[in-house]
Amino acid sequence: MNQDPLKLMCILAHPDDESLGTGGILARYADEGVHTSLITATRGQRGWQGDEADNPGQKALAQIREAELRAAAAVLGVQELILLDYMDGELDKAEWKTAVSQIAHYIRRIQPHVVVTFDPYGSYGHPDHIAISQIAAAAIVAASSSNGTQPPHQVDKLYYLADTAEFAHIYESVFGELVMTVDARERRIVSWPDWAITTKIETNAYQSQIWEAITCHRTQLPSFEALMQMPTAQRQRLFARQGFYRVFSLVNGGREIEKDLFAGFSKPQKVL
Ligand SMILES: [Zn+2]
Repeated sequence: MNQDPLKLMCILAHPDDESLGTGGILARYADEGVHTSLITATRGQRGWQGDEADNPGQKALAQIREAELRAAAAVLGVQELILLDYMDGELDKAEWKTAVSQIAHYIRRIQPHVVVTFDPYGSYGHPDHIAISQIAAAAIVAASSSNGTQPPHQVDKLYYLADTAEFAHIYESVFGELVMTVDARERRIVSWPDWAITTKIETNAYQSQIWEAITCHRTQLPSFEALMQMPTAQRQRLFARQGFYRVFSLVNGGREIEKDLFAGFSKPQKVL
């Protein structure tokens, strides 16, 4: 039996990724007594969604979005929030070894059992999401060796967020087709085939927390307009459960669909 709490770490790119992408699991596992931490690589300082005339500028927006992120993380019960200073939209241009060793440092210090990050498609091709997925995987490898001052830490499981076809369908029926043009080529939402999803987590009980966390991101509300106009029941279908791909696990395997990111660990039962 584990004496120490199980630990979940989400490694993501922007303020709001934690609420839209991992709000359900952060709320659920905090509620179940799991230690939860979040690394957010950028402050989203280029993500002004209102009228350009009202844009407070990158420096001020970075501060506003940090406050929004802290509020959302508190709603989700995140116990440790690490906000890094990479430039929004340029994470793939970061000095790579520095970024990997910086995140490896936090992995060694916090010692998560399970890490969650974006999938290799960055959900819809967002270069920052793709970069953080690659950096997180490299940091897990790096953290398994000492850096000379910290002892090594071996992460037991790595997961990618895996948007289901159902999620993509509901999402695009509300927002229209999500298209991002990168290097003059269009990128769209990539949903995983249902058979490839290894892990489905129920998060329906945490809908109010997820929604409260999302709406902490007040500067982003113009881009959430369609989400806010959705009938509640339809919106809740988006966040009722979430799919993941188990990239690696040192503790379990096989084809049975997991219902718990900590499957394979002995976990204290929640006291009701
Ligand atoms: Zn993002």
